Amino acid sequence: LFSQEEPTMSFDVTDSTGIGLDPIGDSEERAQLRAVVRRMVGEISPPERIRELDESETFDDELHRTLADLAVFSLGAPEEHGGMGDVRDQLVVIEELAAGPTSMAVFIIVHYMAIQLLSDFGDADRHTDVLQRLVAGQQKVSFALSEPGGGTDVARAMRTTASAVDGGWRIDGQKMWISGAARADHLIVLARTTAAENGSIDGISMFLVPTTARGLHISELDTVGVHGLDTCEVTLDGVEVAADALVGAQDQGFRQMLATLNRERLNTAAGSVGVGRAALGFARDYALERQAFDKPIGSFQVLQHRLVDGAMALEAARGLMVRAAEIEAGGGRADLLASMAKVAASEAGVTITQDGMQLMGGFGFSREFPMQRWFRDVRLWTFSPLTNEMVRNYLGERLLDLPRSF
Ligand SMILES: Cc1cc2nc3c(=O)[nH]c(=O)nc-3n(C[C@H](O)[C@H](O)[C@H](O)COP(=O)(O)OP(=O)(O)OC[C@H]3O[C@@H](n4cnc5c(N)ncnc54)[C@H](O)[C@@H]3O)c2cc1C
Repeated sequence: LFSQEEPTMSFDVTDSTGIGLDPIGDSEERAQLRAVVRRMVGEISPPERIRELDESETFDDELHRTLADLAVFSLGAPEEHGGMGDVRDQLVVIEELAAGPTSMAVFIIVHYMAIQLLSDFGDADRHTDVLQRLVAGQQKVSFALSEPGGGTDVARAMRTTASAVDGGWRIDGQKMWISGAARADHLIVLARTTAAENGSIDGISMFLVPTTARGLHISELDTVGVHGLDTCEVTLDGVEVAADALVGAQDQGFRQMLATLNRERLNTAAGSVGVGRAALGFARDYALERQAFDKPIGSFQVLQHRLVDGAMALEAARGLMVRAAEIEAGGGRADLLASMAKVAASEAGVTITQDGMQLMGGFGFSREFPMQRWFRDVRLWTFSPLTNEMVRNYLGERLLDLPRSF
């Protein structure tokens, strides 16, 4: 049987001089961060353990603790709250996690989003405590926006409401597909606070709700992938929270959330690039080892071409992602490039894993090998946090100046 060792492929597209000149290459510090995370993942979460946790649908607490020790949860948070680094460092971590324990990459993407929301909109007195514990990896926060009635058009579909009661808010409603909710200490919940006609994005507010709140029920959903992290349905049945649960401005919660989308698009691109890289490396090594007609299947042109197409799609997606991240980190407008990176990377990930399954024949179908897990997991980023159709709609409108299509 095919040995499941580290991929032997370096993916270097240039020589040592070229690496120094590569405009999308890692800086020295980021190359170090990548090496540390990669080594740590290899030690704590080798392929066999990832497989076991995926099969038993178990969160990797040990990996989480080690990531906390490495201060990986602090990346992108403001220094005054114990943070360091920026989105470019987050991308490195996410890519390395996605290439192995992909579910932890999903977890950390939500974590980085929560950090951004609480840093940008949280109140210095009221929310710093949670933010600092998040940064230290001592707490977990999930993000609850989607509902049974709609994800893409969630502002119009939103049925969750928050009404002012004596000294606080009462929240009623249902949230769906919430990553990590079963293990979270808090949820960031979006709820309608002011009725709005035509599904306006105004009138929605953001609340930080402890998962211990009375009336809050969380149940796990049975999903196709990302089995190392729970995906949940959340019911809020008259959940009462104090006034200070409100994060940011009342009625502006949806706009606050939109402000984080750029970062999230980039982070999901990094997840897809990580899966794509791992799957491509695995497929390439398998193609060299597996024999048919007395030669390695990697000598058949059709399979070679698919691998090459995968490598090109991956490099192109990475280029878009790093360009967008550099611009975002420097404070420039990065929404268009980040959108392109999200679509390009997630679709590259889907194509590479699809081709990887085909290249492996019957062995692709075996749960013993990681290809089927990458194939299942990477699909998430074609529709979450935003579907690729909606990202294309956005690009049609904002990049090409075409009429809004919806
Ligand atoms: C594993 C998992 C984890 C998730 N984690 C979270 C989480 O932590 N928090 C959270 O809030 N949500 C989460 N989600 C939900 C996710 O963000 C939504 O599934 C996503 O936004 C799509 O919404 P939907 O599923 O309701 O699809 P729908 O909105 O019903 O869309 C269905 C289809 O219609 C298409 N469509 C809709 N409108 C248009 C249009 N105008 N033009 C063209 N096509 C259109 C869509 O592109 C899609 O193909 C998660 C989902 C999953 C499966």
